[in-house]
Amino acid sequence: MASGAPDNALRIAAPLLGAVMPIPARGAGVCGICHSSVEGYEHCFPCNQALHFLQREVPKVVPISLAVEGEQLHHALKGYKDDRDAVVRDRFAYQLAALSELFWRRHVTCIEPFDAITTVPSSDRNAFEAVVQRSHRLTDLYQPLLTRTGASGTHQLNAAKYSVARDKVEGRRIVLVDDTFTSGATVFSAARAIRNAGGLVDHIVVIGRYIKRSHRPSADLIDRMRAEPWDVTECVCCRPQTSLFAGW
Ligand SMILES: [Zn+2]
Ligand SMILES: [Zn+2]
Repeated sequence: MASGAPDNALRIAAPLLGAVMPIPARGAGVCGICHSSVEGYEHCFPCNQALHFLQREVPKVVPISLAVEGEQLHHALKGYKDDRDAVVRDRFAYQLAALSELFWRRHVTCIEPFDAITTVPSSDRNAFEAVVQRSHRLTDLYQPLLTRTGASGTHQLNAAKYSVARDKVEGRRIVLVDDTFTSGATVFSAARAIRNAGGLVDHIVVIGRYIKRSHRPSADLIDRMRAEPWDVTECVCCRPQTSLFAGW
């Protein structure tokens, strides 16, 4: 982008930026896989299950921001799918696409090498496609590769929930992208399905790492990260990794 040109992505994402927060580095008090808060363990419980499910080869989870329950980013991540008003859904989808654009513009080299990005279809539709299609950068990299099989268990780790065409993924590096990371059951199941078909999944990029204030370690983590400025030039991969709780 030429200097002085208006930055459309920054302008469109602006309503979300007050709620965007950096991701804590893995280490004491922070899950080594999904970057949520943990007490006394290296990984949170769902990620520990994922370690077994994925035979210890868990892709790197790269959230763009923490998404605190009830705050504007969380609101957008739900609203782009669920709001009753199509105009509101569309506006949120554009804001989330612009936030994604800001990330991918700066940090594609943090994720490379890869051959394609793909989304994970949810129970009834492929909602995140609406965001991907509003970002030129993501559209260029995007290929729909996963199909729902109808196997049940939204919150369970199960590769059989998705079918993948082997000829489309074999030997290729696929980045999974999704809106929100909560337990990871969806993206980890999809990663396993792609691997079962011969593909490689090294990174899962999500817009929001969902977190709520309901217990003390999470509330402390939110407060610590709220105090740190969000910097578009840094992501959890390339940020200087000082342990969050160093010096406590
Ligand atoms: Zn975790
Ligand atoms: Zn980066």
